[in-house]
Amino acid sequence: MRLTADVTVVGAGVIGLCTAASLARQGISVLLVGKQQYGEASPAAAGMLAPSVERAAGPAHNFAIAARDIYPHWLAQLSDETGIAVPLNRLGVLQVALSDKGVKGLRKAALPSTEWLNQDDLRRIEPALGHAIGAVLNPDDGAVDNVALLGALSKFASMSRQITRIDGRVTALASNAGRQSLRLESGEMLDTGRVVLAPGAWGAALADSARCLRSVVPSRGQLVSFGPIGVRHVVYGPRGYLVPREQSLLIAGSTMENAGFDATTTPEGIARVRSAAEEIAPALATATVTSTWAGLRPVTPDMLPLLGPDPENSSLIYACGHSRNGILLAPLTGEVVASLVAGAPMSHDLSQFRPERF
Ligand SMILES: Cc1cc2nc3c(=O)[nH]c(=O)nc-3n(C[C@H](O)[C@H](O)[C@H](O)COP(=O)(O)OP(=O)(O)OC[C@H]3O[C@@H](n4cnc5c(N)ncnc54)[C@H](O)[C@@H]3O)c2cc1C
Repeated sequence: MRLTADVTVVGAGVIGLCTAASLARQGISVLLVGKQQYGEASPAAAGMLAPSVERAAGPAHNFAIAARDIYPHWLAQLSDETGIAVPLNRLGVLQVALSDKGVKGLRKAALPSTEWLNQDDLRRIEPALGHAIGAVLNPDDGAVDNVALLGALSKFASMSRQITRIDGRVTALASNAGRQSLRLESGEMLDTGRVVLAPGAWGAALADSARCLRSVVPSRGQLVSFGPIGVRHVVYGPRGYLVPREQSLLIAGSTMENAGFDATTTPEGIARVRSAAEEIAPALATATVTSTWAGLRPVTPDMLPLLGPDPENSSLIYACGHSRNGILLAPLTGEVVASLVAGAPMSHDLSQFRPERF
């Protein structure tokens, strides 16, 4: 027997889960197919919501700001639905200057909405950064606890009557008389009206039937977590960043490496992350390292996602390649895909995300 639904979502990382949730909220039935694997990006990420720093050009920047700004309301709804309150840090993101040249560069690049903090201001709010000359504060940016977010989204998926979650790998897709059929590794077949492709860094395996997936490749990022040193803001330095999490953890990142699908950490990578972190907060030189890990970002040549229908088969919708900003963009991506499926008017300019642009 073939399983059927309105839509199949391939991949159950943060993008697939957010998409399934948005579709389900609109009463659209979903088969959510995901095979967990080592190195997936969503649980590995640092969780920054930093569109002012990780800045895109043109309408993509406006999209990223909108994605950040729906977070508070969107998490409140998810909390009402699941009973899980996902921690959200909206204190703003600091970019510290460690030299006069750094001050000049930061002040020149700062957005009009930012505030310049001199050394005394900075010391007052973040004593551990007291050696820095000053900092730009990007208000409204921050971070979400992406691990807690995945927990809440998984609970939503298990509670929703619209979502059937399937633990499996899609190995082939085919289009037949307006219907989409998918073969799973187990041999089982699925049959739906639309397919949303959210396979993270592993899309190339499906590129025979969805050729735009060829432009997504893995980029390894290594991270380190430390015991507490009292930092409350997300902080960028010249070579890395720090992200405070609840449970008093401080996450430091990250490398950006071409290592294929190898998601292991390396002594050199971890040493680089530690040195960039100590440059931001010297107290980290003696803080306890609590954990190290790596993940594979799904990256595209211009670091922007593929978001929209396949040029030859409008029943295939790409929602992948979110590169360094998939946690930031996930809730809005889910809403946009649900609007595309429902044929609702689109209030965002998606032209920079055309899947066929490469
Ligand atoms: C070290 C690091 C730090 C990061 N920091 C940030 C940050 O601070 N802020 C931010 O916004 N973003 C950050 N990111 C980026 C962000 O994590 C990603 O853009 C986002 O998680 C991508 O989500 P995804 O669902 O597309 O991919 P994934 O989370 O990788 O999920 C894809 C899923 O699809 C499954 N899958 C693949 N192929 C198939 C198939 N054929 N059948 C079934 N299932 C399949 C995979 O197994 C996986 O479970 C970071 C990433 C890394 C690695």
